[in-house]
Amino acid sequence: MRSFEAAGAQRVPTRRTVSIIIPFFNEAANLPNLVDALDGYIAAAAYRWSIAFELIFVDDGGTDGGLQRLRAYLAARPRDFGARLLRLSRNFGKDAALTAGLAVVESDAVVFMDADLQHPPSVIDAFLTGWIAEGYDVVCAYQDRARPEPWWKRRARSLYRELTRSSAPAPVHPDIGDFRLMSRKAYEALRDLGERQRLMRGLYDWVGFSTKAVAYTAPDRLFGASKFSPLKLVALGVEGITASSVAPLRLAVWAGVSLGVLAGAYGLWTVVETVVVGVGPPGYPTIVCTISMIGAAQLIFLGVIGEYLGKVLAEAKGRPIYVLESDCVLAGAELTSRRTEIGGLVYRLDR
Ligand code: UDP
Ligand code: MG
Repeated sequence: MRSFEAAGAQRVPTRRTVSIIIPFFNEAANLPNLVDALDGYIAAAAYRWSIAFELIFVDDGGTDGGLQRLRAYLAARPRDFGARLLRLSRNFGKDAALTAGLAVVESDAVVFMDADLQHPPSVIDAFLTGWIAEGYDVVCAYQDRARPEPWWKRRARSLYRELTRSSAPAPVHPDIGDFRLMSRKAYEALRDLGERQRLMRGLYDWVGFSTKAVAYTAPDRLFGASKFSPLKLVALGVEGITASSVAPLRLAVWAGVSLGVLAGAYGLWTVVETVVVGVGPPGYPTIVCTISMIGAAQLIFLGVIGEYLGKVLAEAKGRPIYVLESDCVLAGAELTSRRTEIGGLVYRLDR
């Protein structure tokens, strides 16, 4: 898509295009409200900014009939935006769903947002100001936390940041997430990254480009509960750290060195105790403790190596990031399939 097209001898600017990618998983109750909110916003913004919007909904293998409900709701109402509906063959996770949406985008910029109305559409205006008026390639939103977080959450967040920092620069704000706008330059760079295990938060900063952060207040969910339980967040944290940093492997070396020094010092102390003080070394409890400690450390670090090995295996298998079940465009009430080869291994590089 070009931003200018020839009109006789004169070149006139065409409207900018923006695609909003919305991944959803069992959000049937939230989708009609989301469409209403976006419709209201887009009607005003399309005119104000001279932008043609397209909404790309990605059903991440939901089981609550959300896609059918969305389709019926969209078809029954006049809209100021184009709609594309993708469905993955099962639940692949939010990052895979975002990647699926990104694979079909051709617009001048892309916006990622959640389907549960915790990302207010009005924030898109701040994104457009940053992109169009101020020339930023990436404008991302961070949560302005009205209630202070408990200390352990703050500490866990900063530890995670420190550990994932080794291969990417520090983010513009510690609390930024997926809610963001990326210009064509930036989203194409993100799309072309080769890894299959895509934890987007770890990739945004690596890609770079001029970035601005804007604050927003997330309202509570209207319906349903967060899809990310504390246990899932810990798993995502481990994945984020091992995907972007080798710090845990280095930790193994340091732990080995420290244990070696401790063992040497204890050995020396035993000799001194026997020769100078004249007391023989204590019996088996010390030996059992020492061996257990070393055994535990070895098992922990074997696990750490296993994490990395698992990652290498997954990349080596070269499986697609997701499998698409359907890909349709909704024009008025008409639903047209965009692909005939659906069902096979269709994924991001197949555009
Ligand atoms: N989501 C998804 N696939 C998943 C989990 C979540 O597409 O496996 C979507 C979800 O429907 C929502 C967005 O990702 O649109 C954010 O999820 P959620 O609101 O549960 O996360 P939180 O706001 O608690 O971070
Ligand atoms: Mg949410």
